[in-house]
Amino acid sequence: MPENVEMDAALRHHSVVFSQSTKSDFLQYTYEHPSERRVSHVEKNSLIEWLTNPDRRPSSQKEYSRRNYAQRTFSWNDKAQKLLAITKNGGQYRAVVTEDTIADVVELVHNNNGHAGWDATWKDINTSYYGILRADVAFLLKRCQVCANDPRKRSKGPLAVSQALQSVDQSALSFLSFDEFFSTSTLEGLENEDHPSV
Ligand SMILES: [Zn+2]
Repeated sequence: MPENVEMDAALRHHSVVFSQSTKSDFLQYTYEHPSERRVSHVEKNSLIEWLTNPDRRPSSQKEYSRRNYAQRTFSWNDKAQKLLAITKNGGQYRAVVTEDTIADVVELVHNNNGHAGWDATWKDINTSYYGILRADVAFLLKRCQVCANDPRKRSKGPLAVSQALQSVDQSALSFLSFDEFFSTSTLEGLENEDHPSV
């Protein structure tokens, strides 16, 4: 993170969004809920090598598939030294985020959008970044210290999501059904409840 200029600039004038314990809880959470849609350093380096090393020849069917996948899905910006994901609707590139920096990126985006709600923050992240899951954003936002201390956010937004997620955790539902969960009327019910501060 220290070498990321964009983040340094943002960090200079922002309050603490996620505590250190939230960040370590989140890392633990990513270990316990692995996903192929997150990107490890090993994975990122492997993708970069397929894109930048013409001497690297696939030696198996599996490697051919990997190279095709890398070339179809990603692009290496040599000038910026950045790995970019090509979105399916074409034209637009998203920065690839490795799993160890997800919390920092969510913090940056959520702080820059003025602690907007869960939907808006997810949209901002998903537009510009690749490698972050909806569930990751929900996990982090329900622990945002600024939102937790903002009474205007208690009846809706992250705290409602927080309550909803807690019931997801308790019932041990798979995160695969996360989208289904949010499409139910559960959240509407929660939004009208008066939640005590955390
Ligand atoms: Zn917030």
